[in-house]
Amino acid sequence: MDEQDKRRIGEDLEPGGRPKAPGRLELLQRFINSHNHDFPHDWDRLGTAKKAKGWMREKGLVAAGDRISDDDAARLREFREALRELVIANEKGRPAGSALDVICWVSRLARLSVAVDEAGRTALEATDGGVDGAVATLLGILHEAQLTGEWARLKACRQCEYAFFDRSKNRSAAWCAMSICGNRTKNRAYYRRRRAA
Ligand SMILES: [Zn+2]
Repeated sequence: MDEQDKRRIGEDLEPGGRPKAPGRLELLQRFINSHNHDFPHDWDRLGTAKKAKGWMREKGLVAAGDRISDDDAARLREFREALRELVIANEKGRPAGSALDVICWVSRLARLSVAVDEAGRTALEATDGGVDGAVATLLGILHEAQLTGEWARLKACRQCEYAFFDRSKNRSAAWCAMSICGNRTKNRAYYRRRRAA
């Protein structure tokens, strides 16, 4: 896979050609995948205030006039990594206390209300605008996905911690893509065995 394709991963390219998470969970999935730790640091889509603003604006999470400071961008990255810990915990059990602290800390600022559409369907919607509103929206999606059970199908790749939606019946998928991370893991195991032998 060349650099151009790698840079599309998490946006218009899903490793292994997997479908993205369903409904609004896709937005939360993209948020978590706004950076892949296997890629260079400066590829982080929330890496600076300017990049965070562009990305959040594109996703409709903030409005054109909203400001995002360096501190806001740092807070968003911290929130993202705490969410990643929750995804990892979907397989490994309890999330780290530090991740929960971050989620609790941001959730105290998050204000949500129940929105009703013309069909009578309800959804949690942020009351405020700006970064606080964006965080509230994402927490609302997290809550909804936990209620529907879809959250449990979001998993972190064992190798690169990419958040992918596991549609397999027995929920056995372990890597974002066998061709990328699965093989790398296997190759390492192979070389380890060979060295040992
Ligand atoms: Zn991976």
